[in-house]
Amino acid sequence: IGGSERRWEMSVARLPDGARLVRLTDRSRVHAAEQMRTDFIANASHELRTPLATVLGFLETLLDDPDAPPEARNRFLKIMFDEATRMRQIVNDLISLSRIEAERYTLPTEPVDLLPVLSEVDNTLENVVKDRKSEIRIENLAGETLIPGDPAQLHQLFSNLVANALKYGREGRPVTVRIENSGPEMLKVDVIDEGEGIAPEHLPRLTERFYRVDAGRSRSVGGTGLGLAIVKHIAGRHLGRLDIRSTQGIGTTVSVYLPRWTGALS
Ligand code: ADP
Repeated sequence: IGGSERRWEMSVARLPDGARLVRLTDRSRVHAAEQMRTDFIANASHELRTPLATVLGFLETLLDDPDAPPEARNRFLKIMFDEATRMRQIVNDLISLSRIEAERYTLPTEPVDLLPVLSEVDNTLENVVKDRKSEIRIENLAGETLIPGDPAQLHQLFSNLVANALKYGREGRPVTVRIENSGPEMLKVDVIDEGEGIAPEHLPRLTERFYRVDAGRSRSVGGTGLGLAIVKHIAGRHLGRLDIRSTQGIGTTVSVYLPRWTGALS
């Protein structure tokens, strides 16, 4: 399971007639889940320790040299500010992820219109759009765009995807969000960028927590490596799924498939 070896637990009982009963229990799943938790805590601690070490390092320098020239002080303060901002982003993403995981799994029963959710995402990301000299084009080829869902979670899902498309897309090029029908029961929302793309060997691992193709690049654009893990979780909660396709040098398309609103839910 998950590429790890199988784990067996053995217990032996002696029966009244002297025979022995040996019971083997397959503990592989439990073991794999425990391993994932341990890895997660190790990764999260590591991700937080790096910026924390930087902040402490610069604080020490400032404390050791109270008469440092103002330019140096300002430079150090700016670095500490950026690193603290990064820690806040990681903590916020961790909170989101654990909240989504901890909530009781109930299927959303309210119809949500995707179009206003997407416009709202566009508004929230206005500054990033400006920075990247980009624009977000929302195209609806589906007609009705209602799905059973949780508006706040859907907002987070699409804002993570569009933020990635802006971060890793090409400056000055638009990001397209296209809603289409996928059969009679599903909607497909594509988030399309014209960035550098992702090499095929990375595609299957992108939704793992803290997985990044280029950690330095991700860090410099404010990434935490948790965005797509959150997206996958939210899509799953809506009985949906993700499909990521990418061509290097051309761009990346992330498709989210979500069941349509059919009126009454069974
Ligand atoms: P991050 O916070 O680092 O952006 P994500 O979980 O959102 O983390 O994404 C994981 C990694 O997948 C990113 O670090 C980046 O390397 C890659 N990635 C995600 N979206 C795109 C995209 N649209 N184009 C190219 N690479 C992407």
